[in-house]
Amino acid sequence: LSNAERLELRTLAKLTVALLELRQTEHRLECEILERAQYERRAAALQQQLKAANARLGAASMIDSLTQIGNRRAFEEHLAREMNRVKRLSQPLSLLMIDIDNFKHINDTFGHPSGDQVIRRVAEVIARSVRVTDYVTRIGGDEFMVILPTTDQVAAATLAERCRSAVESSRWPNQRVRVSIGVAQLSPYASDAAALIVAVDQCLLRAKRAGSNRVWVAERPHKGTDKNVSTVSFANGLFDREDNFKRPTGTRMPSAV
Ligand code: GH3
Ligand code: MG
Repeated sequence: LSNAERLELRTLAKLTVALLELRQTEHRLECEILERAQYERRAAALQQQLKAANARLGAASMIDSLTQIGNRRAFEEHLAREMNRVKRLSQPLSLLMIDIDNFKHINDTFGHPSGDQVIRRVAEVIARSVRVTDYVTRIGGDEFMVILPTTDQVAAATLAERCRSAVESSRWPNQRVRVSIGVAQLSPYASDAAALIVAVDQCLLRAKRAGSNRVWVAERPHKGTDKNVSTVSFANGLFDREDNFKRPTGTRMPSAV
């Protein structure tokens, strides 16, 4: 071979080695890309599982374990969401606060497990007495809150009375069970969640003080009413149209303040 041919052959050999190395690198890179894609798929699947687990955990942390209905946290979050929605749409919203009458006596006489049974059954009776759009929660002990979106105080009072009488007429294994219910509507006088809760709580207190086993509806404000008095709630014609409103049995409407 001539010198020039030997040189060319050497160059060719070098090029061939370089090409082989390039192919090896290419192959390695392809493997790495494949591996990376597999990792990414696995990471995405794990992320999905984590998201689902978090969602399950989040949902579980909102459920009352005794009754399987929403708990206090669920109530607070749902109320905040619903209040934003109804305010945006200028729609009414009412709350029912329900408390079992003399529940301590049931616990003390028939035992805690019987008390638990009563709480569970009351939750069921309430859930059956309201509409599917209403949101029933147990906020603690023997107390329930029902969020009634797009519902004014008049309609809420009727629903409350339906709940009260459904509990009263239910069959109870040991002794009769009764509930007292406060009713309040979102209004200029109870315009945020805290004020509305105070209003409905005070109505419940008045229902208890008036003898229990009854519904008490927030009072209609009149001219000169102290707007800081959050027990006073806009009754949306409840008193103005009293003649047209059939007061349900057991329901007490306080006279206007
Ligand atoms: P009132 O008519 O004024 O409502 O009186 P009450 O006896 O019902 O009194 P209160 O509402 O204060 O009683 C609540 C009781 O509920 C006190 C507490 O021991 C009991 N309790 C709270 N949580 C549970 C529970 O998960 N299971 C049972 N069985 N009892 C509970
Ligand atoms: Mg009670």
